[in-house]
Amino acid sequence: MIPTHGYAAHSATSAPAPFAYQHREPGPNDILLDIDFCGICHSDIHQARNEWSNALYPMVPGHEIVGRVARIGTGVKKFRVGDTAAVGCMVDSCRQCPSCTAGEEQYCERRATVFTYNSRDKEGNLTFGGYANHIVLDEAFALTVPAGLNPAATAPLLCAGITTYSPLKHWNAGPGKKIGIIGLGGLGHMGLKFSHAFGAHTVLFTTSANKIADAKKLGADEVNLTREEGWAAKHAGTFDFILDCVSADHDVNVYLNLLRRDGVLCLVGAPEQPAGVSAFSILGRKTFTGSTIGGIAETQDMLGFCAEHNIVSDIEMTSFDQLDSAWDRVVRGDVKYRFVLDCKSLSAE
Ligand code: NAP
Ligand code: ZN
Repeated sequence: MIPTHGYAAHSATSAPAPFAYQHREPGPNDILLDIDFCGICHSDIHQARNEWSNALYPMVPGHEIVGRVARIGTGVKKFRVGDTAAVGCMVDSCRQCPSCTAGEEQYCERRATVFTYNSRDKEGNLTFGGYANHIVLDEAFALTVPAGLNPAATAPLLCAGITTYSPLKHWNAGPGKKIGIIGLGGLGHMGLKFSHAFGAHTVLFTTSANKIADAKKLGADEVNLTREEGWAAKHAGTFDFILDCVSADHDVNVYLNLLRRDGVLCLVGAPEQPAGVSAFSILGRKTFTGSTIGGIAETQDMLGFCAEHNIVSDIEMTSFDQLDSAWDRVVRGDVKYRFVLDCKSLSAE
């Protein structure tokens, strides 16, 4: 077994605290990763605080992981000891259903996707994520990190990156398209970067006046401050696609009204309460849909695209002794634009 130090939430109301546990001994297809960096995703907070009513405690969050391969099983082909490797939101799936064989393991039709944390593996054991110094997983669900990408700033690509890249690709964001991004947080700032890199006319909707200048640097052609009166009228019926990256409850009808005929609003944010959609907002054959992360092959493609286009996350480094206040700052929208934990410090504890 692999003795591991991490930080775990033990209830919806207690702050994450140091936690010692064990990962399985690496099997033939497994790698042991010494974790260097882990991003803080808003989903970590939703789940640790049980806002999705699915919490399994003790919970070691973290699904934006970059580290170095410390050990490999006898059958491992993709990695050598010393390689930089990454892990995102899932570590296994059934691998046989049509979604899995199509490389969309996040949509496993047997509902056998094993998430990196707050999930159970095929043996029924709880999975533990990246707020830790080690993780053990099957190499099939680990990603190779192209040389040249800054490892700390690469970590958020494993969730915030792929969650925005995948739907923007799926709905063909590109030249001649008018694309909206709602919410300039971890997901939203990656959405801006990708939409801009794909060549689309990119418009940000934000509630934060202090993010307007940054949004333009990150790739927005236009920025709308949605706390101002009358901002929506000039955009009514003009968008091809809008990606909603907001973490809190909000009115989606406002944005459905901005879509042109056959336009698509894709909700990737996961607020606590269901969204209420008015029939009148979707009359123009509009689509209100969702998307979750992306498959392993597409995540690997995204990392290649990022290396080619010099795209990483804008990060603020933080430490485990600041974790609780970092979570509160994420909830307040006060991070530019993703916190990353330095996990190397845990090995010394
Ligand atoms: P985040 O960094 O906290 O960003 C959320 C942004 O939403 C904030 O920066 C803010 O942007 C906006 N916002 C917050 N409260 C708001 C409110 N009351 N009204 C309007 N806008 C508000 O969160 P994140 O890590 O990017 O995650 C965003 C959401 O996506 C979370 O719910 C998360 O669980 C979910 N998620 C889903 C997937 C998936 O696979 N579908 C993957 C990862 C995360 P402004 O300041 O610009 O307004
Ligand atoms: Zn995430």
